[in-house]
Amino acid sequence: MAIRYLIAGNWKMHGTPTLAAALAGELANAFTDPDAHDLELLVCPPAPLLAVVRAAIGSGKLLLGAQDCHPREEGAHTGDVSAQMLFEAGCSHVIVGHSERRTDHGEDDALVRAKAVAAQAAGLVPIICIGETLAEREDGRAVEVVLGQLSASLPPACSAYNAVIAYEPVWAIGTGRTPTGRDIADMHSAIRGALPGLATGAEGMRILYGGSVKPDNAGEILAIANVDGALVGGASLDAGSFLKIAASRP
Ligand code: PEP
Repeated sequence: MAIRYLIAGNWKMHGTPTLAAALAGELANAFTDPDAHDLELLVCPPAPLLAVVRAAIGSGKLLLGAQDCHPREEGAHTGDVSAQMLFEAGCSHVIVGHSERRTDHGEDDALVRAKAVAAQAAGLVPIICIGETLAEREDGRAVEVVLGQLSASLPPACSAYNAVIAYEPVWAIGTGRTPTGRDIADMHSAIRGALPGLATGAEGMRILYGGSVKPDNAGEILAIANVDGALVGGASLDAGSFLKIAASRP
């Protein structure tokens, strides 16, 4: 079956309502029907900008996602947002377990799994992030660490339609450094090989690569076997760069 590439932009804590509306509007206008059969283009702005981005997308096919959700449906959780709130704000996806949340907020695999389960229950597709640190790679433990995170972070019911994996080596995020094509291929192949044993239906899940994806390396990365898209940080803040990355798919 042909791959439906998912190119997801993680805006992190960037943007104002004016900038967000302009960026989303430019992307929505450029992402037209003929593109849409083999591509999903997604933007994940900060939570307070979801409404303005939703309005800028209008009836366009650009998808809207969030950067995090709480595992509970509601309650006394100051500063958090539930998956249901994100769904009602027009989101289709939510990133969970990004390394910046694992580091800044001490999120562990069990919490990431609980968030992914909550996202699915609300009708959202969780993008579950996993990835090794530089020290773990230099120790030769990258595959072991990533497969450990995978098995502990994945919800019990996963399919090609209700969850996505993002392999993001921590040392490649925002640094301009990327693994070799061979290293990406080996890791994605290891993840693909592990999926059937982890959740019923998981074998067809899409596996995104993330970490310093730019217009000039996207073509090479997206052509690697078992790379089904990209999670893009910095380069997603510029419409031209983000669209060039999407256009680099094989
Ligand atoms: C990210 O934040 O998930 C990411 C991959 O960032 P960057 O593309 O800037 O490395």
